[in-house]
Amino acid sequence: MIEAAETLWLDGELVRSDTARADLLTHTLHYGFGAFDGIRCYRQDDGGQAMFRVGEHMRRLRDSAAALSIPIEHTEETLVEAARGTIKANGLADAYVRPLVYVGEPNIIFAHWLNEPHTAVLAFAWSGYSDRNREEGTTATFSSHRRPKAHAGLYKAKACGHYLLSVVAYSEAKQRGFAQAIFIDEDGMVCEATGENIFAVHGSVVSTPPASRSLLPGITRDTVMRLAADLGYEVVERDLGTDDLLGATEVFSTGTASELLPIPEIDGRKIGGGAFGPVTQSLQQTMMDIVRGRAPDPRGWMTPV
Ligand code: PMP
Repeated sequence: MIEAAETLWLDGELVRSDTARADLLTHTLHYGFGAFDGIRCYRQDDGGQAMFRVGEHMRRLRDSAAALSIPIEHTEETLVEAARGTIKANGLADAYVRPLVYVGEPNIIFAHWLNEPHTAVLAFAWSGYSDRNREEGTTATFSSHRRPKAHAGLYKAKACGHYLLSVVAYSEAKQRGFAQAIFIDEDGMVCEATGENIFAVHGSVVSTPPASRSLLPGITRDTVMRLAADLGYEVVERDLGTDDLLGATEVFSTGTASELLPIPEIDGRKIGGGAFGPVTQSLQQTMMDIVRGRAPDPRGWMTPV
């Protein structure tokens, strides 16, 4: 269980979490009509704290809300400041920040514009995975739930309602004894995991499904593609079938919450040697060194708190 911290940011102000409550008539609660994002803040080796690619996450939040025609008056800079303020107010170092745009009460008719849009930024203390988890990774299964085609581009929005299928597929995977589910679509092509992007490694070639599939082209996905190119791997976006994953030398997932995790086994079949492969290791290490402030950050990904 993770517990929300005592103070959160709501519509421009820091307030106590126990005073910020939503009504049962909140539109978003009924229809999933809202947008959210997730940002990690890392304790730095020099004692400071820094947020990872926070500006891009806040831009994506605004873009997701815009895709749903929910107006947000707060600029990207204000939202970054809100994340900083929430982390500071709660005295957090390793943290997960969850901005949420929702449509409030009192109407549950579809005309969402009759409701007031709200923006909240919540923070949780979260140290994330242990080094052991990061090495052992996670088992996965191909979900029996097919991802619908990327209709109308809405899959590029991090919209609340999209996560219905993720929760269902994740629960099904857990019930069947796997830690994670991988979605394939109606064409039989791999899309993504429930809240992570998927990569396959074949020798020194690192591939991931193209953004034209039903997937959220994650910020960690972009990070890893850039770092892989820096490290001299060939990076390709291409359609991957289930055989491309099962026949890969390594498979791993990327996402803000789980960072970069090896997937050594899918549906009980070992991938490559079934271990923490060398390409996954080098990418994970390179990324963790940047986020912890142990390596230079030439792209300016880290924003001090
Ligand atoms: N796909 C889905 C469905 C997600 O929810 C996430 C998490 N935001 C990702 C992929 C990974 O995106 P990111 O690396 O930006 O966290």
